[in-house]
Amino acid sequence: MLLWLHEQLLALDPGYQVDVLKEKLGAARIRITGTAAACAEVQARVTAAEEQSTTVCEFCGAPGHRRTRSDAMAGWIKAVCDDCHRAWSHHSIMIINGSVHSRETGQGIDLGGLDST
Ligand SMILES: [Zn+2]
Repeated sequence: MLLWLHEQLLALDPGYQVDVLKEKLGAARIRITGTAAACAEVQARVTAAEEQSTTVCEFCGAPGHRRTRSDAMAGWIKAVCDDCHRAWSHHSIMIINGSVHSRETGQGIDLGGLDST
């Protein structure tokens, strides 16, 4: 998704730079600097990419939507698909420094001690 945006913006302005790019409340936040920043067409594409980011699973890229862990009333919001929402709610997958970690592979951190007796 972001690569698509990058190519679109490069076509419009080869000198553009991404100033802010972070995931917040399940949606990408993108700010563009450079000559393209004032261009309405660029802003429209950035807005479209931000909106699209709320419908794509952050773990696997499948269609999804913004949910909290276990659909709690409050908590961290991510855009997730149904399958990943289940795993995320069970704390079996997580995103660390932008990459997906799975508990089963042993790559993830141990959050727990819940049943470590
Ligand atoms: Zn997923």
